[in-house]
Amino acid sequence: MWTKRGIKVSPGIAIARALVIDAKDRPIPRRSVGTDKVQAEQERLDQALKASRADIQQQHEQAEARFGADLARIFSFHLGMLEDTHVLDQMKQMIGQQHITAEYAVFSVLRDLVKALQKTDNPYVSERAGDIWDIERRVLGHLIGEVQAELSHLAHESAIVARDLTPSQTATLDKSKIKAIAIDAGGQTSHTAILAHALGIPAIVGLENLTAEVNTGDQIIIDANNGIVVVNPDAAKLMEYRQESDRLSVLETTLDELASLPTQTADGTSIELWANIEFPSEIHSALEKGATGIGLYRTEFLFLAAEVEPTEDQQCEAYCEALRLLNGQSLTIRTLDLGADKLYQLEKQGYLERPEPNPFLGCRSIRLCLQNLPLFKTQLRAILRASTEGPLRIMFPLISNVVELRQAKMILSDVMEDLDEQGIAYRPEIPIGIMIEVPSAALQAATLAREVDFFSIGTNDLIQYTVAADRGNERIASLYTAAHPAVIRLIKEVVRAAARANIEVSLCGEMASSPEYAMFLVGLGLRSLSVTPPAILELKKILRSTTIKHCQRIARRVGGFDSAREVLNYLREELRKIDRRVAPATGLAG
Ligand code: PEP
Ligand code: MG
Repeated sequence: MWTKRGIKVSPGIAIARALVIDAKDRPIPRRSVGTDKVQAEQERLDQALKASRADIQQQHEQAEARFGADLARIFSFHLGMLEDTHVLDQMKQMIGQQHITAEYAVFSVLRDLVKALQKTDNPYVSERAGDIWDIERRVLGHLIGEVQAELSHLAHESAIVARDLTPSQTATLDKSKIKAIAIDAGGQTSHTAILAHALGIPAIVGLENLTAEVNTGDQIIIDANNGIVVVNPDAAKLMEYRQESDRLSVLETTLDELASLPTQTADGTSIELWANIEFPSEIHSALEKGATGIGLYRTEFLFLAAEVEPTEDQQCEAYCEALRLLNGQSLTIRTLDLGADKLYQLEKQGYLERPEPNPFLGCRSIRLCLQNLPLFKTQLRAILRASTEGPLRIMFPLISNVVELRQAKMILSDVMEDLDEQGIAYRPEIPIGIMIEVPSAALQAATLAREVDFFSIGTNDLIQYTVAADRGNERIASLYTAAHPAVIRLIKEVVRAAARANIEVSLCGEMASSPEYAMFLVGLGLRSLSVTPPAILELKKILRSTTIKHCQRIARRVGGFDSAREVLNYLREELRKIDRRVAPATGLAG
């Protein structure tokens, strides 16, 4: 038994068998398999080699047709390598004698070959090392891809242990089988983390090297309430965690009793607790927890979970379905926030010409939409068509200047005109808002407030752009915090600008889902928070136990601190005073 610590991003405790997913571009760790699995591993190797040979054959034919036989001969070397019985026997023998995975056999034999080639003085021979890397990536791609494909239809309950998962992989996980996620990479508000939270799957990120240390089939406990992974626990530890898990279920039932009560402070001020969702299917459970609307519908996940770009009708149907499920509660649809880490399909479908060197500062979100008008207009048409079905608001993400906002609004007007011409119904007075998630927008909030109906503060991005710390990078995760006095000052300014312009302002970053910030945000003047559904009841409990005066006192005190540490210590202490049973850190923001 051994344990490892990471960053908790989605609460809960799970006890399950590990399913390890390697990344083909990184060193493959040596993993053992049981004697009974040796033959299956050798067969997996055969299948992967066969599939690789078929790929190369196809590429050989295409290259021959385009560039002629001479150039296509490069692929003959690759093919020859994958047919070389000496090399293949070596891999098979390794699996048979050392009881290791097919991945490690391929990795180990080919890396030894590369080392041998690099030692020769003959430049022609040593340059072949590059070809071997290529072959290795191809074969590993087949082996690892096969495990990844399994993710959407697993046979057993498992805990995923992966180097990283993309948001689209996470979006397509089979939730009934995946009990927890443990990831080497990642920070607290990476989109994978957010999605795991929304799906209610316990998750820990920032585990650095866990994939190299755990084998598929190992029993693991993922204690995502404390950020601890226990590998191959002994009987005592297992018992301890089973009891803790039972205790938490009882606590959850107590909180469930709050669902039908209004969210208001002890002195009677109502606070809206809206939900953040990625799919309409999350609405039911959000309402059950007591959400009074959807403050952020991340529509890009429709794209991330689909094989091909959803049509206007499919998008419209998803929005109408959401409105039907909401039965009169309001729905804030955020237009596509694709790009950066949410890249799936973009290159394939031609929206991005080439990968960007710095995608979080690149053509993402509203910028990508403004450069791909057919994509943007299709979505706006779908939203407008759905607007006749219920109270729908439209929200543009990542606005960084006033011109960008005006462009987006102009395109929306164009789309309205098209619908008018075609006699298609929509609600012309649909409220338009923006996310404030770039410091330039926060600093210019007073100007922007004159042009929109509402603001929603997106602290996940606002933090990363303010403190220059990538939200998905575990190495600098401690720098990424909502408690930084500069972030707090920006939020305060935005709330003030909205109040002066008499427009609504809410906050939809993960900070709002973090219990320790709840009283502070209300004290700043926020009266609506949009949060991840599993956080609603706990927040309601806190807010019902406090008064506006108390919250305002907290906000004033926080304004006087110089460092994030002081802010957090103070907020945690205040939370403990309110209710010692409320765990201080089940939310995502650090
Ligand atoms: C944010 O940036 O705070 C936000 C809510 O948007 P996302 O997490 O989808 O970038
Ligand atoms: Mg954002």
